[in-house]
Amino acid sequence: MTAPSITTVPFFSPELFEHDREALLEIVHAIGTGSEQKFILGEHTARLERELAGRVGARAAVACSSGTSALTLILTAMGVGPGDEVIVPAFGCAPLAATVIDAGARPVFADIDPARLTVDPAAAEPLITPRTKVLVAAHMFSVMADMPAFRELADRRGLRLVEDSALAQGGTLRGLPAGRWGDAGVYSFVQVKTFGMPGEGGMVVTGDTALAAAVRMLRNHGQDGVHRFVHHRIGQNSRFDEVMAAFQLHRLPGLADRLARRAEISARYSRRLAPLAGRGLVAPPEGGDGRFPYVYTVLTERRDALRCHLAEHGVAAHVYYPRPLPAQPAFAPYARPGGSWPNAADAARRNISLPLYPNLTDAQVEHVADAVCAFTDTHRDQE
Ligand SMILES: *Cc1c(COP(=O)(O)O)cnc(C)c1O
Repeated sequence: MTAPSITTVPFFSPELFEHDREALLEIVHAIGTGSEQKFILGEHTARLERELAGRVGARAAVACSSGTSALTLILTAMGVGPGDEVIVPAFGCAPLAATVIDAGARPVFADIDPARLTVDPAAAEPLITPRTKVLVAAHMFSVMADMPAFRELADRRGLRLVEDSALAQGGTLRGLPAGRWGDAGVYSFVQVKTFGMPGEGGMVVTGDTALAAAVRMLRNHGQDGVHRFVHHRIGQNSRFDEVMAAFQLHRLPGLADRLARRAEISARYSRRLAPLAGRGLVAPPEGGDGRFPYVYTVLTERRDALRCHLAEHGVAAHVYYPRPLPAQPAFAPYARPGGSWPNAADAARRNISLPLYPNLTDAQVEHVADAVCAFTDTHRDQE
């Protein structure tokens, strides 16, 4: 293995699981040659569910095939279907809208808060109608949505609250972990997420045991886990892989250190970049509560120029959502005609994310920060 050159910083780490290579091979061998030949929904999956539920103080956790599927299972378990409306963020990933449409309901897009980049409860409330069944709040980049306000709104209006915490593992707000503010929360284990793995997987966490039982049933074709081939509900195949469960159990003890290293890198970026606010580059909002170190996202009007500048300096930056969801061809037909989501449009135009993963060296982090600072210096007169 050659050490990465200081001046080449990929956006995603190419060697994310390098330290765990031996463990992964041993797990594949052990499960592949095990006498039970149980490759899905076995004892490792059950243990991972118990471990993650325990960590966030949830009554139940149900492993499933992805973060996207976790959202679908929750909406279906909540009885969302044709004729229902679900309020979702106007800015974020496709599953926020797609899972609602998949369930037969209509997504109603709410604009975001311009600083947090998460859905704004004040924008969501006027969208509530007698058809509204569920509010979906999603955490974004490194900032949790305003969950106390969403919890209060959902309770006051008698709505269910889904918390898309797919990328927010490790975040807490007022002492309550990400995933625990909603009636149900989700985590994604796709490789780039903070508790990512070399495969697809997700988890539903909830304090509602009836909801958990419904999700558990729906993830495996509507069966109850006791009687095979008795299908109580129309379910899906959203099961979890034993090799991945065993690998996640192996990785779990190191999660806190990896999160701490991500937080350290974020803080380093902030020390260098927060002072650039007067020069047209806005760093993520400061403060520790309700923050989690997933992606370091800055805002600038000169986003595309910054991206080119960074590429010239060997730094790969990433633009996550260049279009708001209601402007996507797939979702535009569901968007309110004549609706406008100015903060979502702004964020889509201005956001750009810097590399952030635990195995970045301090020298690489400083190199990225130097390159961003050099850009704002050069373009100073143009602001
Ligand atoms: C990653 C992500 C998802 C989807 O998770 P998958 O495991 O990729 O299906 C959903 N919502 C948010 C906010 C995400 O970041």
